[in-house]
Amino acid sequence: MGDSYAWLDKSLAALHRAHRYRSVQAIDGMAGATIQRQGQTLVNFASNDYLGLASDPRLAAAAIAAIRTYGTGSTGSRLLSGHRDLHRQLECAIAALKGTDDAMVFSSGYLANLGAIAALVGSPDLVLGDDYNHSSLRAGGRVSGATVLNYRHGDMTHLQSLLGSHRHQHRRCLITTDSVFSMDGDLCPLSELLDLAQTYDAMVLVDEAHATGVFGQRGSGLVEHLGCGGRPVVTVGTLSKALGSLGGYVAGSRTLIDFLRNRAPGWIYTTGLSPADTAAALAATQIIQQEPQRRQRLWHHVNAVIQRLDRHFAQASTTAIPLRRLPSASPIICLQPNSAAATLKASDRLQQMGLWVAAVRPPTVPTSRLRFTLMATHQPDHIDQLLEAISVLMHLDH
Ligand SMILES: *Cc1c(COP(=O)(O)O)cnc(C)c1O
Repeated sequence: MGDSYAWLDKSLAALHRAHRYRSVQAIDGMAGATIQRQGQTLVNFASNDYLGLASDPRLAAAAIAAIRTYGTGSTGSRLLSGHRDLHRQLECAIAALKGTDDAMVFSSGYLANLGAIAALVGSPDLVLGDDYNHSSLRAGGRVSGATVLNYRHGDMTHLQSLLGSHRHQHRRCLITTDSVFSMDGDLCPLSELLDLAQTYDAMVLVDEAHATGVFGQRGSGLVEHLGCGGRPVVTVGTLSKALGSLGGYVAGSRTLIDFLRNRAPGWIYTTGLSPADTAAALAATQIIQQEPQRRQRLWHHVNAVIQRLDRHFAQASTTAIPLRRLPSASPIICLQPNSAAATLKASDRLQQMGLWVAAVRPPTVPTSRLRFTLMATHQPDHIDQLLEAISVLMHLDH
């Protein structure tokens, strides 16, 4: 390539120097509680497939049946030739799960956030977002052209002060937040946030990507779990985490969904969700409601891991490596070494010990950490292996 592209090499070299270079690593075959990689079996602590549904034969059977009936592609946008009865069935199932009037499915959760935010607000408006919001929420704010301000993570006092000083200068206001924060695993104080929204006449968009299927009696999400189900909120989520498929959705009032079908370019000008993905997600919505024992097993693991980790840390000597547990309240558990280099080293070491764990680094997060996600399908000895490996990490010489 010509000189106009020389900066690419320099940019990559800078990423390497900062330990921020990323590359993909292939997993062989199906990803469940364990995975195969280059002949090694690893216990999988890096998956969003919280309930183990991505490898469930019932989802596979539903997807195969849908391909036989409808073919592999949707062949057009939903408003042209891409709409099938199957899409509608999934949308009704999501609305029933969420306890909302209606829902609509998008090609991904990322696109659902972009589409919903950019349709709800524009340049005369204000978006207030949590500092730790997912990339798609931040991108939605930018694409909308609204004034975007961030409040400190989970800090309702800061949110209130921003509302107090800025709300009156704008036409509409939208507060955006993850319900379970994707990289920290902690929870949004949703009830207080909705109170503030009501006081200051603001809309609220909650991203339930990591909560759907995981929180709530019915697996509806954190909105249900915190008893906020009846309150006016725009719910966004993904079909690709606990639901084991691919795609995203927005759920809410009939008027909201009707409006988005008319005004969200990321839904109007893109091909309808594939029949296979749609059918798999539909099967998953049924399973998460009919099999609450999956959620119970998951939470059993979460509570056991948090308790045992905290016991380890309380007993650790001061010579152990600096490793801190971030305050999480979900199947996402994070341990923080003291640098990006130490995080990479620790994740290599964990892999040698047979664990597949994510090393998450800036710019995804402000500080590097090891991020473990638990699954309902982990066996007790998988959990033991995790705790033993962390104990080894803590007592390594540095
Ligand atoms: C994963 C995730 C998304 C994106 O969902 P996809 O369906 O994978 O595009 C959006 N928001 C949050 C909080 C997520 O964790």
